[in-house]
Amino acid sequence: MVRSLRYVPFDQLHEHFGVMAEASPEHDVIVMVESQAMLTSANWHSERLYFYRSSARHFAHRLEHKGFRVHFHHATSTVAGLLELKERYPEAQLIATQQTSRAQTERLEAIVDVTVPTDFFLTPRDVFEEWAAQHRSYVMESFYRFQRTRLNVLMDGVDPVGGAWNFDKENRLSPPKNYTWPAPLEHQLDDIDREIAAELGHTPSTAWATTREGALAQLDYFLTQHFATFGPYEDAMVSDSWSLHHSLLSPYLNIGLLHPREVLGAALARVDEGDVPIASAEGFVRQLIGWREYVNAMYWHHDSDYKERNGLEATNEMLPVFDDASATSMNCVSSIVRDIDTRAWVHHIPRLMVLSNLALLTGTNPQAFLAWMRRRFIDAAEWVMVPNVIGMGVHADGGDMMTKPYAAGGAYIARMSTYCAPCPYNPKLRTGETACPFTTLYWDFLDRNEQTFAGNHRMAQQLAGLRRLSDLPEVRDRAAVVLEGLARGTV
Ligand code: SF4
Repeated sequence: MVRSLRYVPFDQLHEHFGVMAEASPEHDVIVMVESQAMLTSANWHSERLYFYRSSARHFAHRLEHKGFRVHFHHATSTVAGLLELKERYPEAQLIATQQTSRAQTERLEAIVDVTVPTDFFLTPRDVFEEWAAQHRSYVMESFYRFQRTRLNVLMDGVDPVGGAWNFDKENRLSPPKNYTWPAPLEHQLDDIDREIAAELGHTPSTAWATTREGALAQLDYFLTQHFATFGPYEDAMVSDSWSLHHSLLSPYLNIGLLHPREVLGAALARVDEGDVPIASAEGFVRQLIGWREYVNAMYWHHDSDYKERNGLEATNEMLPVFDDASATSMNCVSSIVRDIDTRAWVHHIPRLMVLSNLALLTGTNPQAFLAWMRRRFIDAAEWVMVPNVIGMGVHADGGDMMTKPYAAGGAYIARMSTYCAPCPYNPKLRTGETACPFTTLYWDFLDRNEQTFAGNHRMAQQLAGLRRLSDLPEVRDRAAVVLEGLARGTV
């Protein structure tokens, strides 16, 4: 007799966590649902669809090889699929792990019999809420130190290893000159991959694995080839490497092929070997136990209307360049959009300081931009993107999450990338036909929002700079031309 149906969604693909932790091949049936609603709810990047679908199919096969009975069910929606399976096994309880989005949680509420608390993160939701209750503002740095202490990671008693919590200064170097970036690990397609790719009419890149073994190989490749040099250039953007020293682990972490505890354990074991500089070790750990956990916790901490916030009243439509790299001459933007077209991924700085910055400075509607980010990135779970876009990228939450907007002109991109030299625009200029659109729009953004940020002491320096500009009328005129040109795809 079947005791329970254990529902495994496509983003909880780990055999030791969630509903799988207590699953038994004798008593349980594993159910997975590939729903039409999920596949067609948005114009998803085909690399993303391929990755999710192929990873889920591989996972189902993996469980079958371990002796589980797996129903890989096709249905119009997840709910419809689960109801059909419940009818087939009327005596069995339907068990699910807490879902990764509010919408899916609501959809499943009425049909799931038992919900298992999620253990796909390092921070149980009640632990974060306890921490939040003790703090007036939820600054990531303070949460991160709490995590380091609580999880005893890179600690020397009560002090951080290396004598500092933060090595940002060492980890924000400009791209190095005459440097050879190691090639990223390539992942070859197998029969399942090819079948899914054919169904989608998609030619996958070799950037992503779709199996547990591939994800572990990626983890090992990062730890042996890139970890020691990860830190210094983690914010750099270069034209001759799409991956630099980044781990490329977020897609696997976000669908469960890797668990953060496994990644943390392997990284700390590598640190124990002694040749990973503390700045690199700390920079990686900060992403894994700090940012990733913080963003997930903030998603659940906020109400469901958080994603609808539009504190700066930004109403402009999405620019054509987001979907067409040829719709701009801005080398940074077109290069990054092309990279996304190819493999549905760029690292955190192009996302934040180029794409989100562009959306912020151009007054693009936050919800339209959020939907685009969700569609285009391979690792763009709802819990990742809502806080990252609404709170961080376009400052639409009025500063609840970040005390100041991540607005920057061309000078930042010029310092941190190799994009500007071949670009027809000049990052130093804010007016004139060859002025960098980022530089012009940065000052125009501050000008348009001066009143909003007037009481924010962290913006005092920028606003003082604005007041010193002698050519503000010309900047405003040029900004109007740039905004119109970007909207027409001619800048
Ligand atoms: Fe981007 Fe401006 Fe640099 Fe061109 S000059 S690459 S638009 S930052």
